[in-house]
Amino acid sequence: MKLTEYYGRRVLVDRPDWQAKQPPAPIQTLETITVGDRKIECRRCGQKTPKKIAALPNGEFYCPRCINLGRVATLNKFYHVPEPNQFVVKEPVLTWQGQLSPLQQEAAEEVATGMKKHQHQLLWAVTGAGKTEMMFRGIAAALRRGERLAVASPRVDVCLELYPRLQAAFANTTMVLLHGRQELPYRYAQLTICTTHQLLRFYHAFDNLIIDEVDAFPYAANAALLYATGQAVKEKGGCLYLTATPGPSLLRQVRQKELAVSYLPLRYHGHLLPEVRLRLTPRWRRTLDQKRLPANLVAELRRTLAAGHRFLFFVPHVRDLPGIAGALETVGFERRTFTTVHAADPERLAKVQGMRDGRYDFLVTTTIMERGVTFPEIDVFVLGADDPVFSSSALVQIAGRAGRARSRPDGRVIFWLGCPCRRVREAARQIRFMNQKGRALQR
Ligand SMILES: [Zn+2]
Repeated sequence: MKLTEYYGRRVLVDRPDWQAKQPPAPIQTLETITVGDRKIECRRCGQKTPKKIAALPNGEFYCPRCINLGRVATLNKFYHVPEPNQFVVKEPVLTWQGQLSPLQQEAAEEVATGMKKHQHQLLWAVTGAGKTEMMFRGIAAALRRGERLAVASPRVDVCLELYPRLQAAFANTTMVLLHGRQELPYRYAQLTICTTHQLLRFYHAFDNLIIDEVDAFPYAANAALLYATGQAVKEKGGCLYLTATPGPSLLRQVRQKELAVSYLPLRYHGHLLPEVRLRLTPRWRRTLDQKRLPANLVAELRRTLAAGHRFLFFVPHVRDLPGIAGALETVGFERRTFTTVHAADPERLAKVQGMRDGRYDFLVTTTIMERGVTFPEIDVFVLGADDPVFSSSALVQIAGRAGRARSRPDGRVIFWLGCPCRRVREAARQIRFMNQKGRALQR
């Protein structure tokens, strides 16, 4: 193994190897697991496990929590070399040719200043604000300072989407993409793009760490993610969280001033977020189970198409899709004008492309379409918005699919729900909050 592969990482080594001989300097040997009286604590993922569950034959223990990164056991050690920042910086660092609006520029400068000071900061930018481009300036300056950086996201699809954009924007920088679904070998690079899970392989590696779509996971701000972040970044390193929908734990850190915050309340085209309209439909579930749709929903869909607009129609569950498709046909929507799509749908990509190309008037879908996909000029409808499958951040993201085009910045968003619901209220409140800030800027 090349020495560079130990830089800022914890590499697993088996007992025969570490017992045979001392590793050459500057490689350090680190413990993998702390064995307590009743529990073991994993040094990689920080989780504790009762000894009974973690036991291996011969009195050894392993960590079942992070096993999908390769098994860590008391038989192993980590080899580690403190991050030396051994990079050659090639100009021009920033090869992105785009332009930022004055508001985006302001936010980009705040981000860059925070990164320079190695601050912990939050960029709260509405959906469709162009937040990726707003971190370019900060990244470029950090790369020029010779820093090692990572952009991580809880979701693989976000990483896959980011990687080519960052490659184009920083064409002269060494870069690596890491996630669980790929077998490409690891290599030392100045900029790492990875899933937050992969951060567990690093140790005090990054001078600045950026977490994109930090809310994208259920219980996103959970202990495991915080641990992964905390140990991957250098002790005096900075951390930038990017999100359109900060969860309770980030908001608490903002209130307690542990986290600096920058807002970007307007979309890239300078307009506000479309506000959510709510329609109470107490028996939506029963209607749906009978494979029918609420009459006022059907009327709304017809009106939308008559006005020449296309839309996304969200429903809570994959199992709801066939019944709804049937109900739509029964009331006269032609099957060739729409389709259903869900996460495990083998034709998912083709269908999304079909919607992009205008072959469909609308898609009936689930939370899989809540983020990452942009169709310009659409409206957004949700049936059963009070179903627990829709978290408040999912609802904000879903609402944010509307009004993304400069040509039609004011799409409509309507939620049908059975009864008032805290998550729906919270989503509507977050949108209003950002719009208040946005209006103040428009004046
Ligand atoms: Zn572990």
